[in-house]
Amino acid sequence: MVDSTMIHPDLDPQMTEENTVIEIEIPPREGRALRVAQGERLVIATPEGRQAADFFAFNAANIGEWLSPNHTWITNFHTKPRQGDVLLSRFRRPMLLFLRDGAGGIHDMMIPACDQFRYEFFGHRGPHASCSENLCVAMRREGYNIDVIPQPINFFTNTTVEPDGAIVSPPNPVSPGAEVELEALMDLICVISSCPFDLGIEGWEINAGSQITRLAAKVLIGNKD
Ligand SMILES: [Zn+2]
Repeated sequence: MVDSTMIHPDLDPQMTEENTVIEIEIPPREGRALRVAQGERLVIATPEGRQAADFFAFNAANIGEWLSPNHTWITNFHTKPRQGDVLLSRFRRPMLLFLRDGAGGIHDMMIPACDQFRYEFFGHRGPHASCSENLCVAMRREGYNIDVIPQPINFFTNTTVEPDGAIVSPPNPVSPGAEVELEALMDLICVISSCPFDLGIEGWEINAGSQITRLAAKVLIGNKD
């Protein structure tokens, strides 16, 4: 098997725990891909807190099958991912089990990945880092040129649908060090993006005071405790 650290020098596996397969940092505004085998667990953390983590997952045997928040929420009858939920692919097959929610349910399944056009919509001029670009680059580094940007699950992202149907994003309350843990139910390529949304838009904060910070991720095997 090819050692992924030879391909991606920034993937610096630290065997800090007996059951840690790999542990990485996702720099602010950037994205990284991680292979997670069936039965392994993926932990995603916001060390500084209040940083949105756009999360994508693809079937490692067929990247045409990807995680679909839409199919997930219509099956679980809830617009947010909750601890204990099975997260489905667009073919409605189980991809991940949401084992542990350390962020108090502050997640989103409705906002598409940010892209150049989103920043231009808000008046930004010139190129801007985005979760869509981060996803494409991360997948290219895995050998795949993707042309569809799936809907992500946005962990540590605070959105609410008001009774009148309005969607709002109040200030992000997620604590430093908050993390989520997911179990892979099939072999996956997962991509995590530190959302670069840094525009000061009234009522649409997304990240902590428009400050973008790193994320952390690790893959675990073995006992769940
Ligand atoms: Zn984003």
